[in-house]
Amino acid sequence: MTRTVLISGASIAGPALAYWLGHHGFRPTVVEIAPALRTGGNAVDYRGPVHLGLLERMGVLDRLREVQTGGTVMRFVDEHGRTLMEMPAGFAGGDLEVLRGDLSRILCEASGDRTEWIFGDTITALAETAAGVDVTFRSGTRRTFDLVVGADGVHSTVRRLAFGPERDYVRHLGYYVAGWELPDELGPGRDTLHYNVPGRLAAIGGDKAFVAFSSPEEIVYDRRDQAAQKRILRDRFAGLGWEVPRMLAALDDATDLYFDQICRVDVRPWSRGRIALVGDAASGATIGGMGNGTAVVAAYALAGELAAAGGDHTVAFPRYEALVGDFARRAQRGGETTGRFLAPRTARGIRMRNWLHNRSWFMGLTMKVAGDRSSKIDLPACTGLSAASRLPPR
Ligand SMILES: Cc1cc2nc3c(=O)[nH]c(=O)nc-3n(C[C@H](O)[C@H](O)[C@H](O)COP(=O)(O)OP(=O)(O)OC[C@H]3O[C@@H](n4cnc5c(N)ncnc54)[C@H](O)[C@@H]3O)c2cc1C
Repeated sequence: MTRTVLISGASIAGPALAYWLGHHGFRPTVVEIAPALRTGGNAVDYRGPVHLGLLERMGVLDRLREVQTGGTVMRFVDEHGRTLMEMPAGFAGGDLEVLRGDLSRILCEASGDRTEWIFGDTITALAETAAGVDVTFRSGTRRTFDLVVGADGVHSTVRRLAFGPERDYVRHLGYYVAGWELPDELGPGRDTLHYNVPGRLAAIGGDKAFVAFSSPEEIVYDRRDQAAQKRILRDRFAGLGWEVPRMLAALDDATDLYFDQICRVDVRPWSRGRIALVGDAASGATIGGMGNGTAVVAAYALAGELAAAGGDHTVAFPRYEALVGDFARRAQRGGETTGRFLAPRTARGIRMRNWLHNRSWFMGLTMKVAGDRSSKIDLPACTGLSAASRLPPR
């Protein structure tokens, strides 16, 4: 009988899965490579009845509402600060927007003492046997778990170890994004200000800088080398006006740089033997693909199907993917156009984008597509979920 499940990653999908596994009587262990839970981070959103309904069932919705950002208006301006286009707070902020750090903390707290937490370590080898998965950690520890789940993001280590190299599953979508902290005096107030030149976007919101730039070719760089990433950014944004020089000056001192390509993860199936993937590791799109909401839905379904199958992963893993796969891939499609939206490659493209998004009918359509993508899933059809719904409340 499956009891022990090792989950790699303590961001969104990992803690959500730990919560539901614990709820169903499994013994989850979460290993996170960072030395501690990250605080702050970018804002992420939930939208529609499926996302919010699940958060409510987890008992975290009220706590998340206490820390919600309230969303921010996205204002696109020219070099003189004149508004060219404005997106309402609900466009990026959905029905509930929170900082990723707050969300991780609240999800981890909800999983509580039913979960074993290991920070500052990572899996370095996985060997499946008939009885379980033998896991080696970077710390040298060796343990055996019944199942292993990769919830370690678009560049998942579990996926690389168990499924194969990243290039087989991750497609570059032609853009890069980056974010870092700014000194307080640069913050413009409530709205996030965005400035474009063809193929590039610079934005300031609160105490954070965010940039995006077009790069049809993949850039070769070391993911751990922040100095190299800063050089790439300085090179791409050199000579631009508006607030860009001050943003680049702040980059020199930034210790928390986030830098990544916009990419799409495409893995089928989501499991190999006793090892499965959840969240961005299975179906991520870096940004714009509702990965945060999908992570919570997928975690719920995976734990529910395992419970319904009495822990038999050979039954549960395919059912989990059948239930969530199409939903996740529909949501993921948003990521295909994120780069083009943020930083159109031509001046004409920028004008077209502004014109379209200033039309209320187009915004209405965009919001409807997002609403549909976030809620078109028949969760009650999952046998695990109906079983879960019969359990007494925590
Ligand atoms: C700037 C930005 C804005 C975004 N805005 C939104 C939004 O508004 N709405 C939305 O739905 N989504 C948004 N997203 C996407 C969203 O953040 C992701 O889809 C979501 O975080 C996926 O959660 P996850 O738990 O699957 O993976 P991740 O959040 O990527 O977490 C992976 C975790 O695994 C850990 N990890 C990595 N490697 C290892 C390893 N080897 N061993 C152990 N642990 C490891 C990482 O440290 C991390 O804690 C945004 C993304 C970005 C970059």
